[in-house]
Amino acid sequence: MPGSLIQRRGLMLVLSSPSGAGKSTIARALLEQDEELFLSISLTTRDPRPGEEEGRDYFFVSEDAYHKKVEDGELLEHAKVFGNYYGTPRTLVEQHLTAGEDVLFDIDWQGTQQLRESARDDVISIFILPPSYEELEKRLTGRGQDSEEVVNKRMAKAADEMSHWPEYDYVIVNDVIEESIQNVQAILKAERLRRTRRLGLGKFVKSIRSIA
Ligand code: 5GP
Repeated sequence: MPGSLIQRRGLMLVLSSPSGAGKSTIARALLEQDEELFLSISLTTRDPRPGEEEGRDYFFVSEDAYHKKVEDGELLEHAKVFGNYYGTPRTLVEQHLTAGEDVLFDIDWQGTQQLRESARDDVISIFILPPSYEELEKRLTGRGQDSEEVVNKRMAKAADEMSHWPEYDYVIVNDVIEESIQNVQAILKAERLRRTRRLGLGKFVKSIRSIA
């Protein structure tokens, strides 16, 4: 067996950030360029936004259905984020990990804490920060159609979310988007090479040490 085919264990790559930091753009680029990375689709009790699709962006569920899934242990993690409930369905994630594939999570700090508690060795967490206060404000102001009150509320939410940066393994300041994407790819590449994730390594080394 060539060394490049050594079997490995899938990892869980978590991206968190306040909205407006560029996380979705980074996630999209990663998923497009990496065939071994799959997105965990969360479920949520909030209403779909224009353009969002069931099963692609989220699974949209009622509060009753959400609470039932929590009770039945069907969620890997779950949290209330700014008034709505969110959770990660367990089955698909476990299927990917077992197949040696990696799973990308776009979840908040509460969900990240829960994943870390249940699977510390398999979780790599990255926090994305905006490059400056001014830039974040600009990104959250949108096309200038929102009232000052709405924008202030978004900034307060962002400040709240950002206070959790020290809980993450890596922090990326998203100034130039291409660089941020490359940085996340570099983290992923290095983490995939970790000895402890490479299940077939012992067998491989044995094979190259055997004397004919
Ligand atoms: P939005 O409603 O804007 O799509 O997401 C709001 C926040 O909820 C984002 O910070 C996002 O990362 C987080 N979120 C989305 N899905 C999940 C999930 O399954 N679990 C947790 N804990 N947070 C989630």
